[in-house]
Amino acid sequence: MEVHDSGGLPGFTIVGLPDAAVRESRDRVRAALLSSTFSWPLRRVTVNLAPTAVRKAGAGLDLPIALGVLVAVGELPATALDGVAFVGELGLDGSLRHVPGTIALAEAVRPERLVVPACDLPEAAAVRPGCSFAMPSLRVLVETLRGAQPWPRPAPEHRSAGAAARRVRFEEASSDVPPGAATWRARALLRYGDLADVKGQRVGRRAVEVAAAGGHHLLLVGPPGSGKSMLAVRLAGLLPPLSRLEALEVTRIHSAAGLPMPEGGIVWDPPFRAPHHSASAVSLVGGGAGAMRPGEISLATHGVLFLDEMGEFPSLALDVLRQPLEEGVVRVSRAGGTAEFPARFLLVGAMNPCPCGDGGVPGSCRCSPAARARYMRRLSGPLLDRFDLVVSLRRTTADELFAPASGETTVTVAERVAEARLLSRSREMRCNAEIPASSLAELAPLSRDAEALLERGVRAGRLSGRGVDRVRRVARTIADLGGDGGPIGETHVAEAMALRAGREVLDIGS
Ligand SMILES: [Zn+2]
Repeated sequence: MEVHDSGGLPGFTIVGLPDAAVRESRDRVRAALLSSTFSWPLRRVTVNLAPTAVRKAGAGLDLPIALGVLVAVGELPATALDGVAFVGELGLDGSLRHVPGTIALAEAVRPERLVVPACDLPEAAAVRPGCSFAMPSLRVLVETLRGAQPWPRPAPEHRSAGAAARRVRFEEASSDVPPGAATWRARALLRYGDLADVKGQRVGRRAVEVAAAGGHHLLLVGPPGSGKSMLAVRLAGLLPPLSRLEALEVTRIHSAAGLPMPEGGIVWDPPFRAPHHSASAVSLVGGGAGAMRPGEISLATHGVLFLDEMGEFPSLALDVLRQPLEEGVVRVSRAGGTAEFPARFLLVGAMNPCPCGDGGVPGSCRCSPAARARYMRRLSGPLLDRFDLVVSLRRTTADELFAPASGETTVTVAERVAEARLLSRSREMRCNAEIPASSLAELAPLSRDAEALLERGVRAGRLSGRGVDRVRRVARTIADLGGDGGPIGETHVAEAMALRAGREVLDIGS
């Protein structure tokens, strides 16, 4: 950011592709300077934001612009700014206000000192501990830069997350438990509820366990009242806590999107995002007219993206999911430029078996076969193919509903999930769903019986070639959940095939 002032007609111009918020900073900066008992130059001031070709967005440039003006009019020596980076929106009273995406900004600069608004200090300190400072107001900051006041103590590393964050920036830490992770189990129960609360639905409960353990995308098909949403929410609570690297990535995305940050500035919990089917494509995928914002699929990174009533989403929005599901990133192109956001999420879809929703109840469905077929076609084949698990649920019966909870609790199941995930990592895989087809023979070897069962499935037309690979990955996860890291047995394959039997209900082949 450069500031130039000269004689001539008084004026203030900002150049370098500013968006509306940046252009308006002129009025905020002027008011903040006057409120802080500085004068406003009656000269011609030009602010240049370099590089000129990149669009500048948001109010975070207020503070740098104000300091530039103060240097230009001689209130501050230019050397006072050496080695210090600033970010902050200015209030009309000269106070410093929140800026979205502070963690990414803090990571991008390596100053001797970094000055941020007080509310953004935890985020900055998480990646720049020992050199991040919060200033209450422009006036106090200027006094400090002039040397009239000592610098305050820098923010310490927050619960030692900062040093760890720097350490694992390029290498994943594996053994030790991240500070926010230790308490995740308790929060998971509060936020996502206990799996034991789901009555009946034995297959559904097993499906979310397998999905969480192997990172397998899951489609739940069932009439209203079959507990699809309950299961999807509880799946998020079964996920293992985020590693430091994952937590930093999630924090960057959530911070850039302007989501409220947890205390401590780092998002330690796997996210759960459930956009409504009326959500726009931009809110789902990301983008926007001005500053590029991450969409729901990026906000769900390292967590669960739950699409309830999946058949009701516009097919355009669902088609956009295919590329991120394949690559783990989403590329968004808009008039303002191109951006790439992480989008590595566990997809949980839920849908009714037919338009009237009663398809799971024989005799009461009022839909014609043509109407049912039309309903199914709304999900494209390529998207349906991404689901390793397709489970058909029936309505919970009254007996089940009023029976005492008999299923396993989230705590018990989550322990198995965590053990299974460790086995995946010992194979250098993030999760079993990501085992490439070329590595299946090595990482998911089959027993003779298991192979014979798969072969019978293919010969009977119940499995395609790609289906075989998917069954194998799921069977790997099922074996891992049993604590068995060895070859895959017949029972593992049989259960993996049963966990995609919903495809037959949907009549989408295998
Ligand atoms: Zn129906």
